[in-house]
Amino acid sequence: MNDYISIDKKYQIRLNSNESYIDMDNNIMLEIKSNLSNIDLHRYPENSMLEIRELYAKYSGTEAENIIVGNGSDEMLQLIISSLMGKGKKMLTMDPDFVMYDFYVSLFGGEIKKYKVNNISEFNLDEFIDYGKKHNVDLIMFSNPNNPTGLALSVKEIVRILETFQDKIIVVDEAYYEFYGESMIHYINEYKNLIVTRTLSKAWGLAALRVGFLIGNTSILEYLSHKKIPYTVNSYSQAMALIALKYPERVIKNVNQIIKQRELLFKELKNIEKNASMDIKFYSSKGNFIMGSTSHKKALLDGLNDKGILIRNFQNDTFRITVGSPLENKKVIEGIKDIFIYQGGE
Ligand code: PMP
Repeated sequence: MNDYISIDKKYQIRLNSNESYIDMDNNIMLEIKSNLSNIDLHRYPENSMLEIRELYAKYSGTEAENIIVGNGSDEMLQLIISSLMGKGKKMLTMDPDFVMYDFYVSLFGGEIKKYKVNNISEFNLDEFIDYGKKHNVDLIMFSNPNNPTGLALSVKEIVRILETFQDKIIVVDEAYYEFYGESMIHYINEYKNLIVTRTLSKAWGLAALRVGFLIGNTSILEYLSHKKIPYTVNSYSQAMALIALKYPERVIKNVNQIIKQRELLFKELKNIEKNASMDIKFYSSKGNFIMGSTSHKKALLDGLNDKGILIRNFQNDTFRITVGSPLENKKVIEGIKDIFIYQGGE
């Protein structure tokens, strides 16, 4: 735990967790603050969270009865895995994908089967489906857009997965949905085997609150809600989320800004790729992050580290950079240029 404290203090620029770089608007923040004084500290939080569900249903084009609210979408993913996985059960996902899938599946004694995405720009859906069939998986879960590759499957492609595995549950983790724009939410009643998860941690810029959603048809929800721990979303988070959810137009505005920054950052990184004296590669993304690969990762991480910049490192030759503010992006670009482009001089 001490590590977290020192990491936070040491890095001035933290582009490792795919948070939004845009803080809450001042006027909404004032409204939030004035509401916090009404909380009854001696009472448990509201458990049904109907108002939050109604507001999120309106935003996402679904119904309150199709939504469970949890302590981040992490809790929702854990709820699904703990309810459906166990000894002898297998879950199909991709490699790479969100690291917590491995953690939960192993925690609950299941086995994870990962379809390796060799070439990020050429994901092969047929192979993914065949791999799932070959291993006779019980559950399928993947993030769309994918964290960390930034790759996104189309609605049509996901419908093929749903049609192929009609008797298995398919979980589409849409943590980064807003940066992509295509969602499976509208299919929850047509496909009874579909569950979608969402969060306020990314495009909504509310990672501190830990509020996430599980969205599915009422029969799945009925089953899962009986397995959920009560009171996991505290009263403060609920009060703040309730206010933030009244202003969805803020999210649209912020997402447009972040996408603009993502494309500017990507263009600069591709320029570095073209002119670098050592190998480095960047991949286009539908999320608020950009994945890269290099065989000189130590040089990259050490060089950025010296400048107080933290990015996400993975075990292999890949890494991921969260889209930051214009200034943060400028600093990370300068930092990578300094390491990868020979500057000349005496
Ligand atoms: N899914 C994906 C793909 C993520 O990247 C993350 C956070 N990094 C989560 C789920 C969890 O988000 P939260 O618990 O904050 O809602």
